[in-house]
Amino acid sequence: MKADLRSLPRDELEAWVRDELGLPAWRGRQVFRWLWRPGTVSFQQMTDLGKDLRAALAEAGEIRGFTAAGEQRSADGTRKFLWRLPDGARVESVYIPEERRRTLCVSSQVGCAMGCRFCRTARMGLVRQLTPGEIAGQVLAAVERLGDAPGPVRNLVFMGMGEPLANLPALARAIRILADDLGLNFSTRRITVSTCGLPRQMLELGRSLDVGLAVSLHAPDDELRSRLMPVNRRHPLAELLEACRRYPLPRRRRITFEYLLLAGVNDAPAHARRLADLLRGLRAKVNLIPFNECPGIPFRRPSDHRVEAFRQVLLEAGLNATVRRSRGTDIAAACGQLYAEDQRTADGREKDAAAA
Ligand code: SF4
Repeated sequence: MKADLRSLPRDELEAWVRDELGLPAWRGRQVFRWLWRPGTVSFQQMTDLGKDLRAALAEAGEIRGFTAAGEQRSADGTRKFLWRLPDGARVESVYIPEERRRTLCVSSQVGCAMGCRFCRTARMGLVRQLTPGEIAGQVLAAVERLGDAPGPVRNLVFMGMGEPLANLPALARAIRILADDLGLNFSTRRITVSTCGLPRQMLELGRSLDVGLAVSLHAPDDELRSRLMPVNRRHPLAELLEACRRYPLPRRRRITFEYLLLAGVNDAPAHARRLADLLRGLRAKVNLIPFNECPGIPFRRPSDHRVEAFRQVLLEAGLNATVRRSRGTDIAAACGQLYAEDQRTADGREKDAAAA
């Protein structure tokens, strides 16, 4: 089987070039730069490598690309990309242009096993893990499609399909590729990984990469959180918050706690007071996300008045709390709405997403 060269961070590619082709490390750097240059689809384009070397690369390795399977544009400028992977599986990435921030929301798995009750992706079940090349490749493919307008992607958030920390080895490699100055050269300070709360992997991530962390909380007590997010039965709040306290946070940074507001479920002032108590002493900011209603998910969006009342309780308790403006709701690109229809497994069988 040929090596998937886009899944190798630079040091691993240098080692591969040395071990497989008997070449010095600088050849690996040359190849790495080509692999992450927008528009590269074949070794033949690597014109500063000799013909024999290009042939040797093509024999032992391959450049796995994406096929664009669709794109939807929202009235607010948000664009949702659907990518078809070589085995037919599909994933989505979402480009969100804001005045001073241009963000790409990236997927880390095809589907997701975490089963959060409010999430469309959960209904697919986990189809498969993405490789490092497929995670970082979404960014390259989006950069290629976006061209220059309306400006380059500056921020990356791993909040698309899947639980990133359930695919940590591939995610960590992808981040090293994306942050490499010979790759796409993203600052790790502009990369945020969002998790539903896997404590051991959170600490592993924090020890190895200097990236931002967002934790999806969505409820201030175990009883309610376990109902909304089955992961809470395995890792209850006390364990999750202990991992947050131990997370090696860079100076002047805070953990973002995402809190989805579901009408009549977790949006009362009493919930806000309990949330404030829970986060006391943590370097935290709270991102309130009014639920985006979508077919088949039995929750409703609270009124703006209710959302603001919730926020006021947090502010009065001294917390930094903002309300996230929903983007791309008309194309189902908002939080928890990603759901690539027509999933196919590697052997080509149709996956029954609704039954998963
Ligand atoms: S909210 Fe995130 S972790 Fe939960 S099921 Fe959806 S994709 Fe998975």
